Amino acid sequence: MLSDRVSAIKPSPTLAMNTRAKEMKASGVDVISFGVGEPDFDTPENIKEAAIKAIRDGFTKYTPVDGIPPLKEAIADKLRADNSVEYRPEEIIVSCGAKHSLYNIAQALFNRGDEVIIPAPYWVSYPAQVLLNDAKPVFVETHEEDSFMLRPEELEKHITGRTRALILNYPSNPTGLTYNRAALEAIAGLALRHDFYIISDEIYEKILYDGAGHICFPSLGADIRQKTILVNGLSKSHAMTGWRIGYAAGPSGIIKAMSKIQGQSTSNPSSISQAAAVEALRGPQDFISGMVSEFDKRRRYIIDELNSIEGISCIVPDGAFYAFPGITGLLGKTYNGRKVDDSSGLSLYLLEEAHIALVPGIAFGAEGYIRMSYATSMDNIREGIKRLKTAVAGAE
Ligand SMILES: *Cc1c(COP(=O)(O)O)cnc(C)c1O
Repeated sequence: MLSDRVSAIKPSPTLAMNTRAKEMKASGVDVISFGVGEPDFDTPENIKEAAIKAIRDGFTKYTPVDGIPPLKEAIADKLRADNSVEYRPEEIIVSCGAKHSLYNIAQALFNRGDEVIIPAPYWVSYPAQVLLNDAKPVFVETHEEDSFMLRPEELEKHITGRTRALILNYPSNPTGLTYNRAALEAIAGLALRHDFYIISDEIYEKILYDGAGHICFPSLGADIRQKTILVNGLSKSHAMTGWRIGYAAGPSGIIKAMSKIQGQSTSNPSSISQAAAVEALRGPQDFISGMVSEFDKRRRYIIDELNSIEGISCIVPDGAFYAFPGITGLLGKTYNGRKVDDSSGLSLYLLEEAHIALVPGIAFGAEGYIRMSYATSMDNIREGIKRLKTAVAGAE
């Protein structure tokens, strides 16, 4: 028998779909994947060189659990320069990816029975991490017509005496939308009034289009800064998903508690990756704008193409690298003799018949949508869209 804890969570549905797609690929099927959640760019050369140098210099031993001082300083400088927030080194922890920072926060803050508010559509790991820490995810729906921003009055309806935290993510995975200042201020006001924490996952802050700006949640004011744990990392901004470097910044008591937990689980993130991360933050940043302008070209293409398909309507994302089209117009129909009733059915049909992999909206708590990552080549996107059009044409 396994623990109740692990039985309470389902395997990540995005991973499940990827696994199925990989199996098909392995058996020789030419699958085009829109399922990926990582940049398709290589980690910049200067960052790789810093890692190689770290190995050659013998920087291959344990480090302080919460990260090496030069990296924490580089993070503090980045937060000051990019985000107008001041954090001392003891208010920062480096973890094995932003996902690990988020997990440490859950371990440090949640007790059995605590309620954690998660706006839907959400990133799949949030509810799982809440459940793994014996707390209760409370979902609040957001709406496409509000650009998927959480309405303060809807948030307020879900606040109870057990509300411990709200997990925010902007620019958002999966919707690609971001928050404006007024919306963030309304949320901050409620957090202060009802005394709960904001866990602000800003991992996509650098991937924004059309001049959209990013407002860092703790920059809203001195009092909300004390109720915020900011999460960020290098996976998306510097194409470093495999290196496993993320970080959190927040009140020192919480960061210290996270460090205590990290010290008894993973200990420090890889020394080599930390050395590389210092270079990522201190070195030239032009890689990012090059990557973002390439994403932008694909974004424009894929959104236009999706909107040209009858039954699909797609909002224009502000950031990240996902299209999140509404597909209700495709449901309830029969395609090549197969009845498709929901986002999972559609995704499976598209994988098996059209050989394109994507993630059903239900995985993100949003039936009636699918998520298509455009972190793949323009050629793949063109071919995938062609297959999608053929697959949904001629429905009965
Ligand atoms: C990719 C991602 C992360 C985690 O990234 P790490 O590789 O663990 O640093 C966190 N939040 C969201 C919303 C993501 O998409």
